[in-house]
Amino acid sequence: MNIKEYKDLYVFIEYQDDRLKDASLELLGEAKRLKEDRPCLGYCVIAVILGAPSNEMLNELGYRGADKIINLHHESLKTYSTEIYTTLLNELIHQDKPDIFLFPATVLGRDLAPRLAARCDTGLTADATKLEFDPENQLSSLLYVTRPAFGGNLFGTIINETKRPQMTTIRPGVMDKLPLDETNKFVIEKREVHPENIMDFVKILKVLPKDHMAVDIAKAEIIISGGRGVGNRFDVLQECADMIGAEVGGSRAAVDEGRIDKEYQVGQTGKTVKPKVYIACGISGAVQHLAGMEKSDYIIAINKDPDAPIFGAANIGLVGDALEILPLLTQEIRSYRERS
Ligand SMILES: Cc1cc2nc3c(=O)[nH]c(=O)nc-3n(C[C@H](O)[C@H](O)[C@H](O)COP(=O)(O)OP(=O)(O)OC[C@H]3O[C@@H](n4cnc5c(N)ncnc54)[C@H](O)[C@@H]3O)c2cc1C
Repeated sequence: MNIKEYKDLYVFIEYQDDRLKDASLELLGEAKRLKEDRPCLGYCVIAVILGAPSNEMLNELGYRGADKIINLHHESLKTYSTEIYTTLLNELIHQDKPDIFLFPATVLGRDLAPRLAARCDTGLTADATKLEFDPENQLSSLLYVTRPAFGGNLFGTIINETKRPQMTTIRPGVMDKLPLDETNKFVIEKREVHPENIMDFVKILKVLPKDHMAVDIAKAEIIISGGRGVGNRFDVLQECADMIGAEVGGSRAAVDEGRIDKEYQVGQTGKTVKPKVYIACGISGAVQHLAGMEKSDYIIAINKDPDAPIFGAANIGLVGDALEILPLLTQEIRSYRERS
């Protein structure tokens, strides 16, 4: 393999029901940042999207940072198939020779990227939280990929010196997506593909949509999260949340105890959230929890234990019983609303 033949930053784009997933748009923003960080490489940001996306979606990819959008076009590719996607992307990699290929660490990305990496005989760094070009050599395109290890207690930086593409999956919610810029210039290339010629041993019988009522706490502006300390009294959190239009989240301990659904878990093995306000009630502040919420704009912690680590991350810390303090807050908001 002559790695000098490989170039550009490719980003895999995921979408559902005519909506581009934020996890992929965040990667476009990150790819653009990397490109601008090392202009001497002359790299382009290339978004790769499979299926038959609308023109609006293709344009949005350009407005969000892609220089070029490659659409592997076929109506049937709207539904994900591991084998078909792997085969088509492997062909694309052989033809285009991307130096870097980024995937979101979503359920789909975690299924696809490892299989594709194995198919094209390269390495994969999974679940990364930080990317940068070789800090020692300003001309190098070697990617330094950092990811948490050992339950978030250590961070490891991984490089792939000998194989291409340099592939990585990246945690949703960690990178920033760029605002829409309709003045961006980009090209769209549709490539007709023939998935019907690919042998697929899996047949999708039915796709069951997720409960539409389920909210994505990663997008919430205010989150009130409960930990083991609030026991089974999540109703107290919900009452306050309803009053201020917040969403309720939880620590892994709360999820493990069946107090709240896994969908709402915040932390390293849950969601990464960046709300304007995060209120942590009865949460100790383990590193794995902090990893998912410490970038919140403003953190309020309520905990009985004055030495709880959560106070180290909080802008305001209240030492006391969350089940006494939170109802007082709810009552205060209610009275304020009635007065004004
Ligand atoms: C690989 C790995 C991944 C993990 N991923 C995650 C993750 O994604 N998210 C996550 O949260 N954890 C995760 N964990 C678990 C994490 O290490 C902690 O065990 C967990 O966050 C603890 O949850 P907690 O703070 O609710 O419970 P505890 O640590 O038991 O803390 C309860 C807190 O409540 C306080 N308290 C008790 N009663 C009250 C009261 N009435 N009012 C106020 N305060 C009170 C106590 O002082 C205590 O600080 C992970 C662990 C590992 C090993």
